Amino acid sequence: MKAAVFREIDKPLVLENLDLDSPKEYEVRVRVAAAGVCRSDLHFMHGVAKIKTPAVLGHEGSAVVEEIGSRVTRVKPGDHVILSFAPHCGQCQSCLSGHANLCDLHMSTAGTLFDGSVRLHAQGEDIYHMGKVACFAEQAIVPETGCIPIDKDFSLEEAALIGCSVTTGVGSAVFNAQIQPGATVAVIGAGGVGLNVIQGARMLSASKIIAVDVNDAALEFSSKFGATDSVNARHSDPVRKIKDITGGKGVDYAFEVFGSTETSTLAYKSTAKGGTTVIVGLAPVGAEAGIDVTELVRLEKKIQGSYYGSAIPAVDMYKILDYTKSGKIDVGGLITNRYSLEQINEAYEELAKGPVGRGIITMIDGNNS
Ligand SMILES: [Zn+2]
Ligand SMILES: [Zn+2]
Repeated sequence: MKAAVFREIDKPLVLENLDLDSPKEYEVRVRVAAAGVCRSDLHFMHGVAKIKTPAVLGHEGSAVVEEIGSRVTRVKPGDHVILSFAPHCGQCQSCLSGHANLCDLHMSTAGTLFDGSVRLHAQGEDIYHMGKVACFAEQAIVPETGCIPIDKDFSLEEAALIGCSVTTGVGSAVFNAQIQPGATVAVIGAGGVGLNVIQGARMLSASKIIAVDVNDAALEFSSKFGATDSVNARHSDPVRKIKDITGGKGVDYAFEVFGSTETSTLAYKSTAKGGTTVIVGLAPVGAEAGIDVTELVRLEKKIQGSYYGSAIPAVDMYKILDYTKSGKIDVGGLITNRYSLEQINEAYEELAKGPVGRGIITMIDGNNS
């Protein structure tokens, strides 16, 4: 089974033939259909996020179920599924209090399946699984709760994107911030996730949606997804520009979708009195951002984090599918580049340059096969 293995920081992924164990109880073996090229994988490759190595990365995927382990009831062979990188145990405090995206057991078993062991091996050497997905591979073993079954006529490429960027972006607008009609919004970072925050804000009838980026082509592309204004932070002071556009107030909701200390502070400074700053991007581990704490109190601003769009994947991905089927959210239009698994390093070199839209690795021919 061919897979792209992450062995060393700042080195290309290595295409290897790995051995894959059979699925254990509550586990499923899937054939990966498509895998999104997401910045979170790049963070691991550059060592600014940590994962046990060697590992198979890839956390934004879709697949076809091939084999089920004992006691599996959610899926059967032949089912088409979105892969969720936040599978739920269903037993822990987070799961039972409505925060399955933060499942305690999932987080404490990062890099492995729920039982703490791996199913991937390279001639006896253990290989870790990113997010219990590890979809930069032809096949994967995933927990059954990481499989979200979908209709067979739904595009598997679009399904892959719902596995991370669409749910993370649209969810942060819909489930986390719960943007009110007529509100003003700024989205800092117009990449794969940012475009989805933008179209989530459009769906919720935001009055102004200001895209902020350093790439003019990305800003222009964002207007297709609902951005009403754009600010190139390389050419002008973005806080001043956002205030100019909003009559001096700042925005009701400012989303940080890039993942850095500077953009987190920028999002906070752009937030209006009584407004909400939502941090969506993952900054390097340990990063701290400066904020004016007196202003936080006097202007009653709020700051909140949003992980996986604060979605309960097994429930809320069906809402995202409905938004997509009814045309409120455009997933197909996000895809700008297609690659084979063999081209994965090329795909990540492109991502590092700050591309427009989303790249995707397609492993099963055709959108709906
Ligand atoms: Zn992602
Ligand atoms: Zn749990």
